[in-house]
Amino acid sequence: MPATVTLSPDNFAQALADSGLRNTPQREVIYSILLKKRDHPTADEVYARVKAELPTISLATVYNCLEALVNCNLVRAVNFEREPTRYCPNLHPHAHFHDETAGSTHDIDLPPGLLEQVRAILPPGYDASSIEISFRGRTAPEAATR
Ligand SMILES: [Zn+2]
Repeated sequence: MPATVTLSPDNFAQALADSGLRNTPQREVIYSILLKKRDHPTADEVYARVKAELPTISLATVYNCLEALVNCNLVRAVNFEREPTRYCPNLHPHAHFHDETAGSTHDIDLPPGLLEQVRAILPPGYDASSIEISFRGRTAPEAATR
């Protein structure tokens, strides 16, 4: 498993507060669902999982919660062309690999210093606020079941 960085419940509430957001039971449950199964679910998949714990929650609320978690940098929105947005709670810098055959998305650890090297290729005067590294392709069957 790639290295991950996650937050304690206190830090979770603090991260929301730092962004001017309240902690709500829905936000907490959705965050815990993202932590529980790190397969980069879509909003629809999160909705299906959260209904087991919060049967009355609406899809709109799920979207709002995910947006709040992304806005306070607790969760990354992961986008692949022509695919719905996926959500990732791994705060460690990492790349994503999207398996086009299986439809699954995997975390890929980056070697130390790689992001700095990538940032260094920018011409003078360009300041990147984020760098996304993503791969598309396929994984061998034995690798995909890790
Ligand atoms: Zn990820």
